[in-house]
Amino acid sequence: MKKSIRQNWENNRAIWLKNNLSADLIKLCQRNDIEIPKMVNPDSDGNRWGNWQWHIKNRVTTVSDLLKLHPEYVGQEKALARWLESYDLSILPLNQIQPNGINKFLPHPGVISEIDPYGVQQEHALILRERDNQKYYLSTRKPGYATFLPIIGGGANRVYCPIGCAGCYRGPQTRFNEPLRNIKEDGSIENIIIPNPVDQIRWLVEEWNSNQEFKNVYDILISGGEPMMLSNSVWKLMLMELEKATNLRSFRICTGALFLGLPFRFDEEFINLLTDFRNRTGIQVKLSVHISHPENITPEAIIYARRLVSAGIELLPQCPLEAGVNFWMNDLEKTEQTLRRLDLLLATVIGVRGYKWIIDMQRRRVNEGVSILSAIEVWRRLHDCHQGESDITRPTSLALFFPHELGNLNLSFHSLWAIKMEVAKDVVKYQIPHPAGGWLNYEEPLWKEVNDDEKILEKLRNS
Ligand code: SF4
Repeated sequence: MKKSIRQNWENNRAIWLKNNLSADLIKLCQRNDIEIPKMVNPDSDGNRWGNWQWHIKNRVTTVSDLLKLHPEYVGQEKALARWLESYDLSILPLNQIQPNGINKFLPHPGVISEIDPYGVQQEHALILRERDNQKYYLSTRKPGYATFLPIIGGGANRVYCPIGCAGCYRGPQTRFNEPLRNIKEDGSIENIIIPNPVDQIRWLVEEWNSNQEFKNVYDILISGGEPMMLSNSVWKLMLMELEKATNLRSFRICTGALFLGLPFRFDEEFINLLTDFRNRTGIQVKLSVHISHPENITPEAIIYARRLVSAGIELLPQCPLEAGVNFWMNDLEKTEQTLRRLDLLLATVIGVRGYKWIIDMQRRRVNEGVSILSAIEVWRRLHDCHQGESDITRPTSLALFFPHELGNLNLSFHSLWAIKMEVAKDVVKYQIPHPAGGWLNYEEPLWKEVNDDEKILEKLRNS
């Protein structure tokens, strides 16, 4: 990818924005210091920039393109080439042009992903259907939860996502093309099949309506990979199936598309599908939107986010805390500034509150993790102490995700008084009480001057 191609993109982008950014949105960007790119060559073709399929086609997916844009990888060509034999590199143009937001998508050769950080493949959380001696995956639901979390496979038993976060929460399936699995209590593993999305939703709704165990489930969060890669016609059929779920009250889509490079995917036809569904059924429609960095709030994302909000579709922004992306354990000031601006822009530009911060689920990354102690400290500075921020910027929770039956856990400054901590040779072990009952065991790598001394707990409580 030559520099001229990048310049060409920037020209296309500036023209598209000139034609699509209304006067009120320009004012909004200016008031909040969001840069609007300037036009250099008015003869460029601005139309392509608004076409999400053009963005998919123009992703950075090869070593040679990566090296042209990121000289920091020069010298690592062999390691990169080996890594990319199994890793699905994908950097979208809109993410590529963010000076710092880009860090989320740059590959990290040699770093291993957690197999199942959220526990979405644990036997106790799986809803399966057996047919012709095959096991089909319908959904994940942690015991007792009021939500189904079906992972949609795009019709090819593949959990696909072109957005390409290097620290993807579903890493083995999206970035390494591994199948979805049933991880059994005894540790053995069984591969399972993801049906095509319409059958999957139909079968799930049949189970939902007929099985007493699911009578308290009123919410569904359709997840992927990237569910917005399904066409509008497939979505239409899925919504027709969902409509038959008698207990359904709230329907959510978990997506990275809006803020991570593909806002254009939320076209008018799709928004109309959602609003028609809501108006016909009385079921609320929400999007759980993945966002990591203030630079993800581009003028393009603002245009589409505001359209969704205007259509009455609630946005629930989720922010994973990731080392080198929006969190630096050795520089909590920088971390605080980055996350403070992100929360502020969500509130003042998009008009929504952060939904949750999620502590990096890829916690085995020794050099790239986020300690729960550092996460609590930043949460305390930004939100718990209530200094320098209005309530409009406060995310609902600081969540720690688990493959445990009890489910996820919310932390706060006060958790420091409940946590028990034990420093071992290379790991730090915590015991944390869970409001649903019992204690959870949580481990993270030992990081010098972050969690290498049990006295740090005491220090944090009293600082
Ligand atoms: S948007 Fe979500 S599914 Fe896609 S790569 Fe990022 S974390 Fe993974």
